[in-house]
Amino acid sequence: MIRLCDTHFRNGPIGKLNHFFTVTLIEWIGHSYRKVCEGRTTETCDRLCVYFMEKKNPVLVIVYLTLLTGSILLFYITAWPNIPGHYLSDVHKYLVPIVIFFTYASFFIACKSDPGKVTRENVIKACKMFEYDFLIFEPKECKTCLFLKPARSKHCSLCEMCVAKSDHHCSWINNCVGLKNYRYFLLFLYATIQICFYGAYLIYHIFLDIAKKMNLAEAWITSIQTGRKVKISTYQAALFLIHHERVLGALGIFALLVGLVILIFFCYQLSLVYNGTTANEAFKWEEIEEIIMTGDLWVFEREIEEESRRRKKKNKEVSIVKGRTTAIYWIQPARHRKNKSSEGESEANGENSKQLGRQVKSMSEVRNIYDKGLWGNFKETVFPPSL
Ligand SMILES: [Zn+2]
Ligand SMILES: [Zn+2]
Repeated sequence: MIRLCDTHFRNGPIGKLNHFFTVTLIEWIGHSYRKVCEGRTTETCDRLCVYFMEKKNPVLVIVYLTLLTGSILLFYITAWPNIPGHYLSDVHKYLVPIVIFFTYASFFIACKSDPGKVTRENVIKACKMFEYDFLIFEPKECKTCLFLKPARSKHCSLCEMCVAKSDHHCSWINNCVGLKNYRYFLLFLYATIQICFYGAYLIYHIFLDIAKKMNLAEAWITSIQTGRKVKISTYQAALFLIHHERVLGALGIFALLVGLVILIFFCYQLSLVYNGTTANEAFKWEEIEEIIMTGDLWVFEREIEEESRRRKKKNKEVSIVKGRTTAIYWIQPARHRKNKSSEGESEANGENSKQLGRQVKSMSEVRNIYDKGLWGNFKETVFPPSL
């Protein structure tokens, strides 16, 4: 079952957030950029835009490091003198440097790790790693690398290479995320969430400490309505403290918000692992769902031995599993598979009487062959096969 492609998932909060970050936000940035550059000399703007959007660049890496380092420096200036305190023990003196080191280390590992580059030397091994399902992946040559694209791989135009089990190109680490470094990417997300929430936790307890020292629990204010003295509420005390310690307050709120946003993204990535898919494949499944809704997806049962021989004639490097029956999907009409559909139709109607075509009416009729179950998917992520 392809749970990821269920309509409730795609149209749910995580699907919408994903759409916001991958489509809406980029469109908004492009729209704003055109507005800003309107009527001005756009040559420099165009060059900057091409550099930022179409070339591999370290802009967001620098932004991340600046935000992280700046926040840590602010933390050491404003929060560190309050540790240990009434609510924070000595152990945090040692934990804070460890958490900081872990965050930088996981970031650099994610930036520098090999995502699973497909080369002429390992392309056959990469092709044998995953079968083609003939639904979202079929044997096709990469026009840039000039070799067969393994199933689940994708050519990244920024990194200029094909990446095995490609997830996406992450500009925050200026690297592709794929078969070999997906675990490091998850580690990087986890480390960032951890430092954000840990920072917010420490700041919250420092505020409690300050409130205790100020004896805010006993503080009172004069009510405007009645003119009487009343005890201040927790909300008022919190506002007073944030106002009193603005930098520390802003740092705590920033850490909490960033932590929450990355946590949602982290959960989305874990759901992809759980479903045995990748971000790249999730978009392909969305396309399949739309094709099914328009009634254009047909399935033809074939014997795999016959398919194997036919494919091998076309390209000697292709190796497809033999010896059992499988289902091969063909998409119609020609707008989806310009060459394949006519080929598929003629073959389906003619030469082989064993073929039986039927229209696919719902996502429950298609199967994600890359989903190995909960344990299998997590094992493949944490201990990916060698390339
Ligand atoms: Zn390629
Ligand atoms: Zn890339």
